[in-house]
Amino acid sequence: VCGFGQGPAQRQKIASSVPAMAAAAAPFVSMPAVSVHEASWPAGFDKISPALAALTVAALALEERLIFDTELPESLEVADCAYGRCLKAVKAIRKGELVYKGECLLSDAKAYSFRVRSASGSVKTYDVDNLNSVWDAKSAGEVRQLYGWDGFMNHSCDPNIRCPETSRTADRLFYDVFALRDIEVGDELLCDYAVFDWECDGHAIEECLCGSPKCRGSMRGFKHLTFQQKLAALPHLEEDSLMHRWVASQVDAVSYLDLAALMPQGVDVAEYGEGWELVATRDFKAGELVFRNTSTAVTDPRTTIVMGMRGKYRVADFEEHGIKREGYVEFPSFDALMNHSCDPNTAQRYLSELDYEVRAARDIRAGDRITCD
Ligand SMILES: [Zn+2]
Ligand SMILES: [Zn+2]
Repeated sequence: VCGFGQGPAQRQKIASSVPAMAAAAAPFVSMPAVSVHEASWPAGFDKISPALAALTVAALALEERLIFDTELPESLEVADCAYGRCLKAVKAIRKGELVYKGECLLSDAKAYSFRVRSASGSVKTYDVDNLNSVWDAKSAGEVRQLYGWDGFMNHSCDPNIRCPETSRTADRLFYDVFALRDIEVGDELLCDYAVFDWECDGHAIEECLCGSPKCRGSMRGFKHLTFQQKLAALPHLEEDSLMHRWVASQVDAVSYLDLAALMPQGVDVAEYGEGWELVATRDFKAGELVFRNTSTAVTDPRTTIVMGMRGKYRVADFEEHGIKREGYVEFPSFDALMNHSCDPNTAQRYLSELDYEVRAARDIRAGDRITCD
């Protein structure tokens, strides 16, 4: 869940029905819900979102507001871009690098303030409303994800960062932000809004201006991507609640295997090159039961199974992971990730058509890769 909901600049790509010059000339007072201490919005701010500018939300007194204290990493700056604010790199960031550890508030507050302390020690306070925040799918009621400075991040259909959720408490959400490719000094940090919002209730970008050759033309939430676009966006997906909504919506023939929920005691998934493998997390004696498993019988070859683990998602490849049976493909769930070895340390025995057990063929140590023939 990485929403970059509430930052005004994040809406900058919204197509304006107001002529650009007229919008730019609109007075700042037309945005009563937003004020800035120690800084003023760029003149073009109203061009960001004429729809928002037309709304009148009673500004709450600062004392009544939720205050969110944040720190801007040394590698980034909040900058003024063509249509408003954005985030830019002030240090080169390499592909795969952790750019920062992010967090946002989970709250039903209608307005809040975030204070940004920069590396130089200066502090700016932004008073914002929750109009552009993202509804939190995992919370009950009207809880939204209220962002700090990274709410200024803009959308691109070809993002250069991803931000998988790492943990949450009752009132905060934490996520890691990784570079998807090299980001040079002066480059804008861009995320794909479609991978953290299912429907973008009320704030879709009808005409995307991200300018990428991969631009989809609009940004209306994950639900509205084509099936192929959804598959392409999987590596960037930021929370599994989107997967659950995708499956539940039945807009595509897709099912989801949450590997964390399926993993037996004593076994875990580890990264293996670009793929995954199974490893032992405790010792097993030769002959000991490692796990029992029930395979899925896939009768419709058009079915797409997505496997997810710790914020990463992969489409199951039935050629690679399935076992052809009479009239169906046996898909062994998490066990599809077990690596082959000509000298395997486990042996498999079927108990019925789809149920089987896996036992240690020799002593297995915690940390060992689990293999089968
Ligand atoms: Zn685009
Ligand atoms: Zn072999």
